[in-house]
Amino acid sequence: MASAEIGVIGLGVMGANLALNIADHGFDVAVYNRTEERTREFAAGAGELSSKIIPTGSLEEFVAAIRPPRPVIIMIKAGDPVDQQIAALKPLLENNDIIIDAGNANFRDTMRRFEELKDTGLTFIGMGVSGGEEGARFGPSIMVGGTEASWNRVSDVINAISAKFNDEPCAAWLGENGAGHFVKTIHNGIEYADMQMIAEIYGIMRDGMDMKAPEMAGVFDAWNSGPLDSFLVEITSKVLATGDDKTGKPLVDVILDAAGQKGTGRWSAIESQQMAVPASAIEAAVGARSLSAMTGLRAEAEELLGRPDLGRFEVGGNAAALLEQALLAGKVAAYAQGFAVMAAASKEFGWNLPMPIIAKIWRAGCIIRSRFLDEISEAFTKTPDVANLVMTPEFSRIVKETDTALRTVVAEAVRKGLPVPALSSAVAYFDQLRRARGTANLIQAQRDFFGAHGFERIDGKGENHGPWNMGN
Ligand code: NDP
Repeated sequence: MASAEIGVIGLGVMGANLALNIADHGFDVAVYNRTEERTREFAAGAGELSSKIIPTGSLEEFVAAIRPPRPVIIMIKAGDPVDQQIAALKPLLENNDIIIDAGNANFRDTMRRFEELKDTGLTFIGMGVSGGEEGARFGPSIMVGGTEASWNRVSDVINAISAKFNDEPCAAWLGENGAGHFVKTIHNGIEYADMQMIAEIYGIMRDGMDMKAPEMAGVFDAWNSGPLDSFLVEITSKVLATGDDKTGKPLVDVILDAAGQKGTGRWSAIESQQMAVPASAIEAAVGARSLSAMTGLRAEAEELLGRPDLGRFEVGGNAAALLEQALLAGKVAAYAQGFAVMAAASKEFGWNLPMPIIAKIWRAGCIIRSRFLDEISEAFTKTPDVANLVMTPEFSRIVKETDTALRTVVAEAVRKGLPVPALSSAVAYFDQLRRARGTANLIQAQRDFFGAHGFERIDGKGENHGPWNMGN
């Protein structure tokens, strides 16, 4: 009998926890997983929530268990599996049923799927979910893309299961078709930059200041009560404080320094290039993860080129305070870039992305949640048409206040051979941004010299050419 209000396909880490979260909020939920064993294990482990969960062994049974019009959340491996899953579901669903892809889809796939399903009587929603396992279980941040009408039909359950910040749900409809997945992609890009910058500061402390993990844990813990107050800083402190049972060493010291990635950071960097809006901090973070994975090459290069041993990281005075300020400045660059990319995409795809709301729904539930996002939300609310976050009064003040710290930390790290690709990209970004007369005049001249591309003069409009090739 059809009694479930919603269904979840995919009972991996995210799907299983999302289904429990839905049940926990009083909704009856039908569940299905390709490998039936997982469905059985899930149902057996659901405890007191079992009465709200309807495990099913086939897609037919799954569809039949949900009351029409059916909202069906697909939470499986992104990419082709989602297309296959939609193809298998389509003949079983009826008019007005809603397919919600909640995985980490590439927003361009979401746009395509949205178009493909447009005239079928089915509705498609692309929904970005952030918060990892715990978020999925107890309240993630949820970024929804699709028609506003389809959002209105599922907003009750989505709002209910989302994280709350001051009682406000961290879920919102952000625009048509791929808007939700695009915003989730940029969220992840910013997350990459945030994590990379934290790792660079950790590297300075470890390799330039000879600090041990427990000592660093204390520093990050203290920072978590200041302007850097955030989930990532909090977990960094906890990670650094954790010991390894096997060796007795700090666990972080026995973890291989090769970071994984599933693609969303890279997509952010690619899309920023597509939009012609620089996101150098995100690019640096993606590049750093790629280079981290080349462990063999790095070992050989250290052997061949030698590792610079240029002495201690010395900034005089309170190094921890300077590092804190530098990290804050780097964060401003990364977020300013991420929001600028979203603004450009919003124009290009006609989404009308609500920047203050995006910042608001990132304040809780998601991986980049922080006090900082509350300030970003306020800044965009007060200055909605601002071209770049750093042009708001609040953030221009932070950029000015943290400038010396960022510059000092990056300069000293470079001097001592400590890699800071993301933090140094932030210095370059700010320095280029605030220079009204840059150096692209020379590039224009070069382009005109070799390709007759023309240039504009500062004293008049219209295309000009130089006398470069005369007499050659
Ligand atoms: P898991 O690896 O834990 O689970 C993968 C799920 O996908 C399983 O249910 C698996 O079924 C199913 N699956 C894989 N291939 C197919 C296929 N061809 N057809 C049908 N089902 C298939 O993944 P997660 O739960 O971590 O991730 C799910 C989605 O959520 C992904 O898009 C991921 O990027 C996204 N996400 C993950 C986050 C995280 O922190 N883990 C955070 C936010 C989003 P089976 O049991 O049969 O193998």
